Amino acid sequence: MATRPEPQDPQPPAKTSTPQWSLDNFEIGKPLGRGKFGRVYVAREVKSKYVVALKVLHKKQINKYRIHHQLKREMEIQTSLRHPNILRLYGWFHDDERIVLILEYAHGGELYGLLREKSHLPEKQAATYILSLAQALAYCHEKHVIHRDIKPENLLLDHEGRLKIADFGWSVQSSSKRRTMCGTLDYLAPEMVENRAHDYAVDNWTLGVLCYEFLYSTPPFEAESQRDTFKRITNIDLNFPSTPQVSAEAKHLISQLLVKESSKRLSLQKIMEHPWIVKNADPSGIWNN
Ligand code: AMP
Repeated sequence: MATRPEPQDPQPPAKTSTPQWSLDNFEIGKPLGRGKFGRVYVAREVKSKYVVALKVLHKKQINKYRIHHQLKREMEIQTSLRHPNILRLYGWFHDDERIVLILEYAHGGELYGLLREKSHLPEKQAATYILSLAQALAYCHEKHVIHRDIKPENLLLDHEGRLKIADFGWSVQSSSKRRTMCGTLDYLAPEMVENRAHDYAVDNWTLGVLCYEFLYSTPPFEAESQRDTFKRITNIDLNFPSTPQVSAEAKHLISQLLVKESSKRLSLQKIMEHPWIVKNADPSGIWNN
């Protein structure tokens, strides 16, 4: 299926339902995956032939888990963001049973799959992804959006190997400090584990966790039990195994991000300027495996 030409964006970018769209506008292709609340399919818009991903959510499930507000927030945030490393949400529609999100199609699938397949990534590839993430998060933070749930399962790759942040389910639009506990254990910053107020710097922490996981294949504070992971995070029990071999510059960047005091973590700008990034990252963000 062709992924070009650029879509006539299913319009207008939806804050409310866009009644002009329905399942009749799409040829549905193979299932791409299954999430907690429904399935995702590759699909082609009949007129433009533009390929998208349709995420089909069942209203019953949404009501059962009372995630209506979270979903609405996710949709509003994602439709408002335009960045090459953030998955586009073009619009949405619904019928009696389903809500269907029209998403940009990420042909390369989950970064998580790549990590499992390769175990760990070469430094140049890891640096390219960290640079892409830092740029996308800088854009989000400028718009007062904190993602809070960056993890390999929420990172997709497009047909060129460009990384895309997906799933804004846990993100918040806020300029003040927040106190809700959320996110996935291994990627949680100490202030979140300890249920203290947190701000944008939680995303910078997560970049440190991800950079470590890209290079060593496991997240840095992994432990047998949740309690032990909590302990390791709060004590910043960080160590670098001798294999695989990782450069001192990469370790330096990770150590500057996995810092307990959030205000002392490297800023996104400083990440982009870090010698390891400058030396290794491909500024185009494109990585072909
Ligand atoms: P989710 O419900 O978002 O967890 O998605 C379920 C699965 O569908 C994920 O594991 C992804 O591999 C796949 N998927 C979700 N969105 C897309 C997309 N826009 N393009 C390609 N694959 C996707």
